[in-house]
Amino acid sequence: MASVLLNNATILTVDRAGTVLEGGWISIAGGRIAALGPAGSAPAPEDFDTVHDLDGHLIMPGLVNAHTHAAMILFRGRAEGQSLLTMEGWYNAIREPELVMEGSDVGPAVELSCAEMLLSGTTAFCEQYFFASEITAAVARSGMRAVIAYGIVELGDEAHGLAELDKARAFIGQQRSSDGRIVPWIGPHAPYVDNSETLLKAEIELARAHGCGLHLHMAAGPEDNTQTLERYGLTATQALEQDGFFSVRVHAAHCLDLSPEDIEVFARAPAASVAYCASAGLRSGRAGICPAIALRDKGVTVALGTDNVAANNAYDMISEMRVAGLVASHRENRAQPISSADLVRMATIEGARALGLDGETGSLEVGKAADIIAIDLSGAGYSETPDIETLLVYSGSGRDVRHVWVAGEQLVADRKLVRKDLAEIRSAYSTTYEAFWTRVETARKVA
Ligand SMILES: [Zn+2]
Repeated sequence: MASVLLNNATILTVDRAGTVLEGGWISIAGGRIAALGPAGSAPAPEDFDTVHDLDGHLIMPGLVNAHTHAAMILFRGRAEGQSLLTMEGWYNAIREPELVMEGSDVGPAVELSCAEMLLSGTTAFCEQYFFASEITAAVARSGMRAVIAYGIVELGDEAHGLAELDKARAFIGQQRSSDGRIVPWIGPHAPYVDNSETLLKAEIELARAHGCGLHLHMAAGPEDNTQTLERYGLTATQALEQDGFFSVRVHAAHCLDLSPEDIEVFARAPAASVAYCASAGLRSGRAGICPAIALRDKGVTVALGTDNVAANNAYDMISEMRVAGLVASHRENRAQPISSADLVRMATIEGARALGLDGETGSLEVGKAADIIAIDLSGAGYSETPDIETLLVYSGSGRDVRHVWVAGEQLVADRKLVRKDLAEIRSAYSTTYEAFWTRVETARKVA
């Protein structure tokens, strides 16, 4: 792979010390970060195959979207007025049309989601849905990095649950990509609400046997806790701990209703993390807000996620940092309880840590994969400021991302996708979208 020099930019390394390099440079070789440094120390440009002079740009690690369902772009704008964080809202807006979704719908939908994520600076994401094999193929075409959790919903049908478990086992065995960009996990949708205790225990054993993680919705809808409190006298989080869930890697989305005892469960688990989806939480109208500060104070990894774009309605992780910060201020009743630098960490290295990928991505350090974005700060809205992270989080936009690399491969150049033209992706998606919703309408007329 060609050698590349990114030169002359402000660099947020997001390393442990939070190093910011002014007028800095990064060299890339073999898809990895070979070296980096401040102004005045750059190697000779003629020693590189490609040189990007990025004066006026901010370079940072690619953003990590810690929770989404990429195929659900098909529902964008189709769930307005419905909370997607209650069983009733989800069932009405999503589950009923989802029953006519076919594997062939998924590829074009996921490709458009990946395009939107890449163009706004996301290089890695955590996915949980059905049609995991079709999703994997589409993500691989995009070049993105992803953890893809095979979504399992039992909904009282034990035979279906066991059949899904077998498929999940096969998926985990087959889908780890040779370039390491795609990592398969297991995704019990929302424990106890739609997975039985027997199935949950089998999912834990499957994760343990394959050394993979479990990605799920937790304390997302009010049903999570009401059902387990009735049955076991425990919150869903505590019931899961009792069943051994937290003995393997657990990455939990939303976590709106965690009690202090639930937070202790996360804190004592060997590898538990939370995807704080601030926009989706606000949009749902639910009173609960993820206790991100309390979790972080206890040492729990808190990452940021958009959730699906029917519940957000965008993949812009720069906007998500802003909303996460604003919502935390509101919840804690004080100004900015999370610093902008920490919000950047949550959208990068903490996301990577939640997915077990922090040795590979999430910060700009020698030896890590070159998952890098360059944001153009020359436009209106980016005036001088003493704090570059605050400028990015509270004044920035994913629409100003200009270049994106994953594992040293440039996937966005000058705001355009490199592997496949956006117009081609949009066109295939439009055809799929029309066919899908025509099928939904036909099914509704028959019902
Ligand atoms: Zn979700």
